[in-house]
Amino acid sequence: MIDIDQLQKKFGENEVLKNISLTIPAHQVVAVIGPSGSGKSTFLRCINGLESITGGKVTVNGHEINAKAPIKALKKTIYAIRQETGMVFQQFNLYPHKTVIENVMEALVVVKKMSKQEAKNIAKPLLARVGLGEKENAYPSQLSGGQQQRVAIARALAMEPKIMLFDEPTSALDPELVGEVLNVMKDLAEEGMTMVIVTHEMKFAKDVADRILFMADGVIVEDAEPNDFFEHPQTDRAQKFLRQVS
Ligand code: ADP
Ligand code: MG
Repeated sequence: MIDIDQLQKKFGENEVLKNISLTIPAHQVVAVIGPSGSGKSTFLRCINGLESITGGKVTVNGHEINAKAPIKALKKTIYAIRQETGMVFQQFNLYPHKTVIENVMEALVVVKKMSKQEAKNIAKPLLARVGLGEKENAYPSQLSGGQQQRVAIARALAMEPKIMLFDEPTSALDPELVGEVLNVMKDLAEEGMTMVIVTHEMKFAKDVADRILFMADGVIVEDAEPNDFFEHPQTDRAQKFLRQVS
């Protein structure tokens, strides 16, 4: 589903992603962990074309972004990848002046050109699925952070993505609201969604992910099954990181 071949990303002289190669098959749930500034967000953003890449290539569901291709040729590819990839950020970025259901309907109406009624028919069951069937007419400011993040997930799912990318989706939440968001993500994982999740929730990563990528200084330092990674980290860096977060 995702094939990354010698991916490099530089910001000026700063090489933030260094020669990353890996393949993520369909239905795999991958947790990306590592210290702050190691390149995790940049890595996610390169997967869905939010960042241009400076070396190598990234292929998502057959759409190839090659660093060597002219920008013009990539526009269509990036558009296709965005359509097939849902992204959820630390900040929920809901439209404050739109109701919950309007937030979920928005891309269906604007991008997919659906009628309001068609969009509503899709949005309603999605809100029920994230446990917010009762809140469709509320405004974001009337919801808790956990509820807002669940709306953001429903909004991403409305586009029927093949892949979901999460960038620290629970980091901005009060501790007691983290679980409700992780539960929605766990359900998605169990339904077979292909997911790449940057997270600091080690227990969630261990319980839900099929695979852990430990990133440091722009390199994937370890790529392992959760039990192996958490019980027997191979590198000093990972051992040190795990001591710090536990
Ligand atoms: P992480 O998500 O692991 O904390 P990031 O991917 O956000 O790390 O950042 C990795 C490095 O890339 C940092 O050194 C950061 O300063 C740099 N960086 C990220 N985005 C930009 C940008 N838009 N311009 C310049 N440097 C950036
Ligand atoms: Mg980040």
